[in-house]
Amino acid sequence: MDARKTPFFVPILFYLCFFINLQFSFGADSISAYQSLSGDETIVSSGGNFELGFFKPGNFSKYYIGIWFKKVSARTVIWVANRERPITDKYSSVLQVVDGNLVLFDETHTEIWSTNTKLKSSRAVAILLDEGNLVLRNGSSNSTVWQSRDYPSDTWLPGGYLGYDKRANRTQILTSWKNSEDPSPGLYTFELDPVGNQYLLRWNRSRQIWTSGVWNGRLFTNVPEMASGVIFSFTYRSNTNGSYLTYFLENTSSITQWRFIVDYNGQIKELGWLADQQKWSSFWSKPNTQCQVHAFCGAYGVCNDLTSTFCNCLPGFKSRFEKSWTSGDYSGGCKRLMELEYGNANTTSKKADIFQFFSHMKWPDNPQAFSAVNAARCKSNCLSNISCTAYAYYQNTCFTWHGDLYNMQQLPENDNNGRVIYIRIPSSDSSKNNKGIIFGVVGGSIAILSIFSGLLLLAFRRHKANKIERAAEGRMVAFGYKDLKNATKNFSEMLGKGGFGSVYKGTLPDSTVIAVKKLEGVSQGEKQFRNEISTIGNIQHINLVHLRGFCSQGNKKLLVYEYASNGSLDSHLFNPKKDEGILPWTTRYEIALGTARGLVYLHEKCRDCIIHCDIKPENILLDSYMCPKVADFGLAKLVGHNFSRVLTTMRGTRGYLAPEWISGAAITTKADVYSYGMMLLELVSGRRNSEQTRDGKVNFFPAIAANVIMNEGDILTILDPNLNLVADIEEVSNICRLACWCIQEDEHVRPTMSKIVQVLEGVLDVDMPPDPRGLQVFIDNEDDIVFLTDKPSSSNLHIQSDPAWASSFVEEQYTNKKTQGSKIQECESD
Ligand code: ATP
Ligand code: MG
Repeated sequence: MDARKTPFFVPILFYLCFFINLQFSFGADSISAYQSLSGDETIVSSGGNFELGFFKPGNFSKYYIGIWFKKVSARTVIWVANRERPITDKYSSVLQVVDGNLVLFDETHTEIWSTNTKLKSSRAVAILLDEGNLVLRNGSSNSTVWQSRDYPSDTWLPGGYLGYDKRANRTQILTSWKNSEDPSPGLYTFELDPVGNQYLLRWNRSRQIWTSGVWNGRLFTNVPEMASGVIFSFTYRSNTNGSYLTYFLENTSSITQWRFIVDYNGQIKELGWLADQQKWSSFWSKPNTQCQVHAFCGAYGVCNDLTSTFCNCLPGFKSRFEKSWTSGDYSGGCKRLMELEYGNANTTSKKADIFQFFSHMKWPDNPQAFSAVNAARCKSNCLSNISCTAYAYYQNTCFTWHGDLYNMQQLPENDNNGRVIYIRIPSSDSSKNNKGIIFGVVGGSIAILSIFSGLLLLAFRRHKANKIERAAEGRMVAFGYKDLKNATKNFSEMLGKGGFGSVYKGTLPDSTVIAVKKLEGVSQGEKQFRNEISTIGNIQHINLVHLRGFCSQGNKKLLVYEYASNGSLDSHLFNPKKDEGILPWTTRYEIALGTARGLVYLHEKCRDCIIHCDIKPENILLDSYMCPKVADFGLAKLVGHNFSRVLTTMRGTRGYLAPEWISGAAITTKADVYSYGMMLLELVSGRRNSEQTRDGKVNFFPAIAANVIMNEGDILTILDPNLNLVADIEEVSNICRLACWCIQEDEHVRPTMSKIVQVLEGVLDVDMPPDPRGLQVFIDNEDDIVFLTDKPSSSNLHIQSDPAWASSFVEEQYTNKKTQGSKIQECESD
């Protein structure tokens, strides 16, 4: 070759290579033999759904080869090649097709990961398909020799399958990530148990956390939702060659991106991407609550489903891995701050260990049980055994635990499953506080003074810290007004305003977010107020907003509630924010069920039955998981006789009030059932029950719905049009019937809340309801209603007035309105 010509060839070659490389990075869906992918280069599936390349999860400093959703703005990885062997430099590492294998080489050209096929062909090609599957094909026969969905990470996509191939002796196992930023295999796996014909969620590849139940020919018995077929259709095949389950999206769903995952926190979830809200939303998950996940808080961790952080260490313990713990990976559990005395070779102490008492606990796993005459025997038995870490004495039986304690759960005080347990701690743990005081006595007077003031300060701080601790533990706290002023930054962020005052967002010094309600017009005396507060504060249920504390200083009366980050139901139903999107039907159903469960608790499970009196979407709050929580229960008794006046003057509330509020009949739990029924119809229609049309007429939806239901018309005509018919028709129909039963004029005909729960859980069928007559009349008269029930009794809420007088009065109103349309003034009863 002529040496003088060389300079002309070099740049041409260079540009040629560069051009080929550009083509490869920005359009191709495949990697052919001897091509390579490196640095920021990616391939994209032909329809643009998925992308493959190097990625770095979160703040992690290492890189992986993975596949992620291309059209989802939040980077969501569905498959990782080198889960266990990340690389450090993506620019000098390459993914290549070599000798019929797809291989990842790191910067030292060491093979990190490979498809390990025996193809040995020079014409293999790796293609990223639009369903999120990376396939390796034999270029000559075009047959698939390897595919990523045979080796899933934590994700199972629609169209993919999960099963057991007997011929290849291969099971698809979904394995959780270690935590949100670490794709290495975590503790939880999900796979088909070929022997039992059921899917199992397991912890540590051994212990079963959840099972799908067996296949009954139509569905897996613990997943009745499979029958709905609204969003997905399922196919399960099982024969001598193996078994597998696959699912496909039905065309009716407006959500196009779905994924099923085994989350690093141990739950399996079906998630859909809400494009308008730009976030993944969970449509189905198991186990139902976080605390049901085995060993979620690790050893000596205590789980609490009612707190947003879920896990706490027992007092005297601290998290083993602080960084993971604060990032939400609790699996490392907790360790002792001080070693136990007994059997500890390093201690000179002659003291025995002691036991710390805990109540309302779900016991840890695997106790040993034996009969013992009394608790003292039980205690001494545990004390004398080095490995015994806890004991409990219950019904003449001694329970002891040996080794680390797992799966403890703090239960609400009213939960009958809560038990007392004694946990072993070193005696020095409780005596260490005295040392400071002895030292103070022998020091000089200045030292005494400074130590004294130091102790005072310490005591003050401890008091404050205790307050916060108590709030965090779920115990009622009496806050000072100043505390709440500080927490709410001088009441600067108002969440909303209702009939009893305004609600402000705040943050406690331990970062717990709270909602502070400034009450107005409380007519109860101080003692009565505090009594009611302690009753309400004792009520804890996952579907009831938890009252964390209060402030009562003169006429300053404030309530401190847990904060519900998704606000109240009304805003989601009637004014969904652009970035929130429409509430899916499944969420609406869950909200109906959760609300009903909360009300059952209030009506039947508390020591003093509580009638809510103000059920409406504004009083159904939604937490970060869209779990419904009934707010403002007990307010009726708390604010005293002003309560019914507020109800009467609030327009929003009126559409939900049962007829007995005007008839003067006693108010019973069935008044809540009526309001609940009204709310059910709003969940179905997605609009307020009574709406004024442009021509000034009032459309009263319950009457329209009742008409369709009674005449067995097309139920879908009354469904929220925003749902685009994506709903289980049977569920919609059942809820509508149920609602009609709830809004019956005669309260005796209305079901109890526990019957309602049974219907929603599918345990009871619901018959055709009687025509809820009188509805329209009641609403037509709503503006002119005179409320006769102005005095809720403070001891119970069976509000009484003269029934004979009241009923004749109501009849008169109905006639008046119909014939003359007269205006009636509100009563001032005191
Ligand atoms: P009512 O006075 O009849 O209960 P309301 O519910 O509209 O009517 P408030 O209870 O004062 O009025 O609440 C006002 C708004 O503040 C609610 O609609 C809700 O959006 C918000 N809010 C109340 N409590 C909380 C909370 N704990 N967490 C988050 N938002 C809350
Ligand atoms: Mg409210």
